[in-house]
Formats: sequence, C-alpha cells, structure tokens
Amino acid sequence: MLHKLVEKYMDESVLPEGGIDLEQFGQSISQAYEDMERYRKRNSRAMAAIIAENKDLTNRLSTSIRALEAQKMLIDQALDGVSQGITIFNANDGLVYSNSTFACVYDLYPNLTEPGVRFEDVLHQGIAPLMVKPTNDLTLMLEALLKMRMGESKTVEISLKDSRYIEISFKQLEESSWYAVHKDITHRHQVDARIDYLSRHDTLTGLPNRPHATQYLDNQLNLRMPSDCLAYFIIDIEKLSSINETLGHHAGDSVLREIGRRLKDSIGNSAFLARIDGDSFAVIQKTQNRLDDSLDLVHSILEVLNRPFEILSKKLELSASIGIAIAPQDGEESSTLMKNAELALDAAKSEVPGSYRFFENEMDIRVQIRKSLEGALRDALKNKEFEVFYQPLMDLKNARLIGAEALVRWKHPENGYISPGAFIPLAEETGLIGQLGDWVLEQACKDAVHWPPELIVAVNLSPLQFRSKSLLNTVKDTLQRTGLDATRLELEITESVMLNDNQETIKTLHDLRGLGIKIAMDDFGTGYSSLGYLRAFPFDKLKIDQSFVRDIAPETDALAIVRTITQLGANLGISVLAEGIETEEQHALLKREGCEFGQGYLFSRPVPLAEFEALMTGRFGYRQSHLKVVAG
Ligand code: C2E
Ligand code: MG
Ligand code: MG
Repeated sequence: MLHKLVEKYMDESVLPEGGIDLEQFGQSISQAYEDMERYRKRNSRAMAAIIAENKDLTNRLSTSIRALEAQKMLIDQALDGVSQGITIFNANDGLVYSNSTFACVYDLYPNLTEPGVRFEDVLHQGIAPLMVKPTNDLTLMLEALLKMRMGESKTVEISLKDSRYIEISFKQLEESSWYAVHKDITHRHQVDARIDYLSRHDTLTGLPNRPHATQYLDNQLNLRMPSDCLAYFIIDIEKLSSINETLGHHAGDSVLREIGRRLKDSIGNSAFLARIDGDSFAVIQKTQNRLDDSLDLVHSILEVLNRPFEILSKKLELSASIGIAIAPQDGEESSTLMKNAELALDAAKSEVPGSYRFFENEMDIRVQIRKSLEGALRDALKNKEFEVFYQPLMDLKNARLIGAEALVRWKHPENGYISPGAFIPLAEETGLIGQLGDWVLEQACKDAVHWPPELIVAVNLSPLQFRSKSLLNTVKDTLQRTGLDATRLELEITESVMLNDNQETIKTLHDLRGLGIKIAMDDFGTGYSSLGYLRAFPFDKLKIDQSFVRDIAPETDALAIVRTITQLGANLGISVLAEGIETEEQHALLKREGCEFGQGYLFSRPVPLAEFEALMTGRFGYRQSHLKVVAG
C-alpha cells in the first residue's frame, strides 16, 4: 500500500507544483500506516470470531446427526417390533422403508425389501403368487391405490393360499409419498367364522338352526327355476318332553343328538336338514317331481325315527309327525311355505299322531274359521251363552240312576247348540278354559244341590285346569258357596293330566280326595293306558272309552279289552263305568262281563237341566218332592 502511494506521488502528472511537501508526505504515510494497522486488527478479530462460530456449528451439526442416527435406530427397532408390516413408498412408488415384519408377512426375498425396489415388483413377484384369488385381489389392491392417490384412505383384505387373511391399509403422505400397513387378520377371521357358525347352527346337534334354514329357504326360492319344486318339511318329535321329565334333560339331549344323526344319515346330501326348535326339525328338498321324491323322503324319515332309541340302557320309542308344504303351489315365499307346513303338521298331529300330511288349501280356511271362532268364544263367555246338559249315569245291574255327567254346550245365537268337541280344544289353547271350567263346576254344583242326596254329579276337568295352582281352592269355594256335599261331586280327568308334573298332580288329586270328592279316569283305554297311573293314584272310577263299547260284540278284541278293564277294576277295588252304550246288546254284554255302571244314548242323551229333572221324576221313578228347593 505504501509502495502504491509512493508510486502515485512519483508520477509527475500528480506531483504538486513546487514539489513534494515531505512533512505532509510523512504524515500521510504514517496516517496510512495507522489506518492499515487498524484495518488488519479488525479483520483478524472478525476472522477469529468466524472461526470460533464455525467450530461450534460443526460440533452442533455432528451432535444432531448422531442424535438423528440414534433416533432412526430406535424407530427401526420399534417398527421392527410391531406385528404389522409397514412399507413407505415415494412418489414414484419406490420403496423408501419397510420394517422386518413386512418381509415376514409374505416371506419375501431380501431383494424385494431393499430401498428403491418398485411397489409393482413387490406386488407381482412377492405377494401375488401367494394369493388364493390373484386376479380379484390384485384388482382390489390397484383400485385401493388409485383411490388413495385421490386422497381417500383405503383398506383391502386378501386371502392367501396358506389360509391366512391379510388386511392392507393404504394412506397418502406429504409430497405424494405413501405408506401401506399389512396386518395378519387370520385370528380375527377365525373368531368371526366361529361366531358366524354358532349364530347359524344348533349347538346340541351341530345342525343348521332356524335362521339359517330360513335364509337357505329364501335363497333356494329365489334361485328356483320354474320347473323346480321346493318342499319344506317340519318334523315334530313327540313325547320328547316326557323323556325330559322322566329321565332328565341329559337323556333328552342324547335323544335329540341321535335323532339329528339318524336324519343326517338318512337324508345325506339329497336335502338340507336343520333343527328349528326344541323338538322340531326342518328339511328343505329340491325336487322336480312334486310328490314322489317328497313321499320317498318322508317315508325314510319316519322309518329311521320309528326305530327304538337306546338311551341310558333303556329302549325308548318315539314318534314323529310331519307337515309338508311345496313351492310354488303352497306358497312362493318362505314365510307362507313355513306357515303352511306348520298347518299340515297340525293336521297330521290332530288326525293321526305319528303320521304325515301334505298341505291343502282348506287347512288354511280352517284356521281362518278358528280365528273367528276364538273371538266368538270370548264373546260367548261375556254374553253367558253356555249351558250345562246332563247325561244320566246308570247302575247297570238294576237300571237305577246314580247321578249325571255335566256336559257343557254352547248355545250359539245363530247356529244353535255347539258340542264341546268343537270349542273345548280352542278354549284350552286360548286359556279361556279356566273361566269356562269354573263356570261349569259352579253351575253343576248349583244344579245338583236340588237333586236327591244319593245322586252324584260328574264334572270334566281339563288338564289345563289342573295346572292352575288355584284349582283346589276353587273347588273348595264352589262347594261351600253352592252347599253341595263334597261326596256328591265326582271329577273326571283324562290320562293326559297324569303326564303333567307327576308329583304336583298326585298331590292335588290327594288334596281333592281329602275334601271327600271322588276322582274318575275318563276315556280309559285311549291314551297311554299306563297301569303306572293306577298305582300312582287310587282312582275311584274307570270310565271305559266309548270306542270299545261301540265295537263290542262276542269274540272281539273290544270285548277282551272291556273284560280286562272290568277285571282290573274289580281286583283293584275301582268302580268301572262303560261310556257310549247305545244298544240293548251292548248293555247285556257289559252286564254279563260284570261292568257295574254305564251311560249312553240307550238311557238318555245329554239333556238340559229341566229335561233331566223331568227324566228323574218320570222314567227314573223319583217324586217331585225329591227335588229340593234351595234358597238362592
Ligand atoms: P266325555 O267326558 O267322555 O263325555 C262323553 C261324551 O260322549 C259326551 O260328548 C256325550 O254326549 C257322548 N256320549 C254319551 N253317550 C253316548 C252314546 O251313547 N253314543 C255316543 N256316540 N256318544 C255318547 P260331548 O257332550 O260331546 O262331550 C265330548 C267331550 O267334551 C267330553 O267327553 C269331555 O271330554 C268334553 N267335555 C264336555 N264338557 C266339558 C266340560 O265342561 N269341561 C271339559 N274340560 N270338558 C268337557
Ligand atoms: Mg267325561
Ligand atoms: Mg269319556
């Protein structure tokens, strides 16, 4: 710098006139020198500061890098530990990152998990060969990818040949990169499948249940070709509840399992079998020939179910009734078809238990009539349209009257008298029997109070009345209210009463007997005719069912049965009465067999009270004065 200054002053052109002022020159030089020194010092300070700062920066940078590396390691470790496969791809679908689980999920070669490998290659070389349905699942995945690119997160599920299921979720990240999470959901599938199975099957027999059967029927009806028929069978197993009651539910369960096995073996794959209720099964059969195939099937079902069952080392006999409805003629919707099969079943059960019936249109009409009858029955109770008729009960030896059976009649305002056979079952089904039975009992006791004291009145009791806890009190109160002596009341029960809870029933019978009432077994010989009943409760009277009396003639089975029952009664000290005596021949034969009592049209039909009292004072020889007038 000094050198340059000297050069400048040496240059003639700039030399001042009169030459150089050396003092000034010297001052200038020292000034310049000072300036220069100051400048150098400032620069070197700045340089030192810059160097110091740089060093700090370098230190900080390397610390950050170390921290970042440590963090990345931790994240790697953490992500390798998760149970889902995680992959991150860049905007060009090149792999940026994948955790080790991803490779495990698909058992991938290492080259398919290296950074930079394209998603397409991973998919086609690594995943697609494992797929059960590659065409379908690849399409699903590519569609999901496309949707993700449009900003929608998507999840797809693929199934692999080794029975695993993988759920893949795609999600877009910043700057068009994206990630996919691959989750093994096989366990969830198994649990779902189990829940689905349980919701569609009966756990006891392993057979499809009612909802499953309905769904199957719906599907088959939808798929049905016009030439196809679809038969729906309902199989109702009878006597199962009595097995549960007598041998316990364990035995009932074993029977049901055995029934399921037999039906499955017999039906095979020719039809669909389900257990739709406690004691009913359903079969759905596709057929082209309306009746023949169904008939073959129904016969083979009845054949396997009629074979005895061996449970708890006991041989048990069951029977089954079957109702069948066939689409399209009996209904094209599952609900109609099922309802009609149910109607056919009801018909089979009520006509010949243990048989089968195909649906007929009139069955439906009968149901409609019944419905309107039910309403009318309720009204009849309100409007007091019932009346008690009396049928004489006779001592056969001397043709003397011993009392009367009270038989209810419905005096319909338009249709006249309706017999109990037409409305008692309906009253039982609808629960109206309780009210009706109480009324008959009250009426019969009220009427009989007027009769000579040696005459009894017999009242029928429905098994349903027996189930009511209040029966004993009702009877007691009625006797008290009407003033009838308990010894003049006879209650008639049928064998079905004895099928109810036995201990409870027998206790009620004893309690009634304790009041002084007599108990008769009605329609004897028609039900199970178990002699066990006669040991369980000492009945006062056995009433031989009229079907035996009707067929009675010398050398007939009916006569043999009547003879056996009469002798049985004599041996057990139980009176025997024959029902339905219509002819003198029957009367004579019964007398000869030693049957003590009887009733029937031969003596009199059931008649209204006034007519019965007229008979009493007329044909049966009582005087008018024998009929008491009772106050009230
Ligand atoms: P049941 O108790 O066995 O009554 C005898 C039935 O046989 C009566 O029918 C009677 O009319 C009929 N009968 C009597 N003698 C002859 C005869 O010589 N020939 C023929 N063919 N039939 C004869 P009914 O009155 O129609 O009663 C039918 C059934 O209805 C009764 O059978 C009984 O089980 C039930 N029942 C009647 N009244 C009542 C009642 O108040 N309560 C209950 N729970 N059931 C009743
Ligand atoms: Mg009776
Ligand atoms: Mg009877």
